[in-house]
Amino acid sequence: MNVHTLPASRCPRCHRVVVPPARLCPDHPVTMEAATVSNLGEVVSFTTLHSPPEGFKAPLHIALVELDGGARLFCHGEETKGIRIGSSVGVESLDRVFYFSHMGFADRARLFWRRAGARGEKVASITKSVVQGIWRGRSSGDS
Ligand SMILES: [Zn+2]
Repeated sequence: MNVHTLPASRCPRCHRVVVPPARLCPDHPVTMEAATVSNLGEVVSFTTLHSPPEGFKAPLHIALVELDGGARLFCHGEETKGIRIGSSVGVESLDRVFYFSHMGFADRARLFWRRAGARGEKVASITKSVVQGIWRGRSSGDS
């Protein structure tokens, strides 16, 4: 049985926690210490791409999740049905990609994701570039 935590880093100076782990604090160049955080959090924002980048099956669901403890990360999910801002979700990491699943009525321990394999590699490669651009573009309206 897994203990449901995610690897993280904590800054010894400002105590900022980041997921996934980073070598240096994003706020100042201090070497961070290894830490773990709960994999439970809240949806801050989410979107569905109906025309995802090449190599993805549409629709592609993406959520920005704030974990208990404050770290924020982008996650992918198989569906966003029932998900809204503030929904409790569990986050699981597979092949360096984070996935969320709804915790509304499910047992917290029951996270069920298939291995992502090659698809996961592609998701990881676009998360930083494409996804963050999408969020900037969504600052007004909800088309
Ligand atoms: Zn710091």
